Amino acid sequence: MFEFTAPNDLLANKTILVTGASDGIGRVCGKMFAQYGATVILLGRNQTKLEQVYDEIEQCCPGRTIIHPLDFRKAKTADFVQLATSLDAQFPCLDGLLHNAAMLGPRCPIEFYPEQDWQDLIQVNVTAAFALTKALLPALTRSADARLLFTSSSVGRIGKAYWGAYGVSKFAIEGMMQTLADELAKTTNIKVNSLNPGGTRTSMRRDAYPAEDPNSQPAPESIMPVYLYLFSAAAVSIHGQALDVRGFHAI
Ligand code: NDP
Repeated sequence: MFEFTAPNDLLANKTILVTGASDGIGRVCGKMFAQYGATVILLGRNQTKLEQVYDEIEQCCPGRTIIHPLDFRKAKTADFVQLATSLDAQFPCLDGLLHNAAMLGPRCPIEFYPEQDWQDLIQVNVTAAFALTKALLPALTRSADARLLFTSSSVGRIGKAYWGAYGVSKFAIEGMMQTLADELAKTTNIKVNSLNPGGTRTSMRRDAYPAEDPNSQPAPESIMPVYLYLFSAAAVSIHGQALDVRGFHAI
């Protein structure tokens, strides 16, 4: 695993928004970004779970966390605009956006994939990421050194039977990353990349592989050095890349 030794104030004065911050990888990312000095905005659909994460962060890093409950399956454009307006009133800019929230959905042949599940999944995994990015791009553009990181998957890079809308949604995420990276390269200081965390011990992994020993997969904590590095100034030259936690090395 990649190792990154960083000072405790690595992300001081940075404001970073994490989606899917109520559980799994996003939850640990939110906590870690705060521990390294960032102000974090935690998005998730479950207020109670978000409040638990908030309480945990408050114990070590008081006054630097905001929670914003939003169910991506139901969210409309106005919800994303309202979030952007609220953040604009509190912060001069946004230095990081981690698109991490996702749903897994059914795994079955495309021929039998339920249409409502397809629409819900594309809404949560793709359309919400588009709408959130669109709403927050002005705030990201105002940062001197911003990061826009999408979360991919191995099934979003090589198609795999029965992964249905989830795999297709991750291909779309790679496309959104590449399109934005090209659009923003010359006109902004935003570095846009995608990251495949690889198999990680979370509830999504348990749902995808119920027969697997959960301890065979690394805990979210052990993949954090890659996330920390990518949101730090050290990663300023990484742009438009489809990255993997496994085998990651500093560029
Ligand atoms: P988890 O299921 O543990 O966490 C997913 C997060 O997304 C939760 O906070 C969840 O909220 C949130 N979420 C789900 N649906 C919605 C919604 N409708 N609106 C808002 N938030 C929602 O997953 P992981 O931590 O494992 O996954 C994180 C990312 O990593 C995902 O993009 C996933 O595709 C990717 N990934 C994970 C791998 C793994 O092995 N774990 C492998 C490859 C990629 P709630 O707490 O309410 O459920």
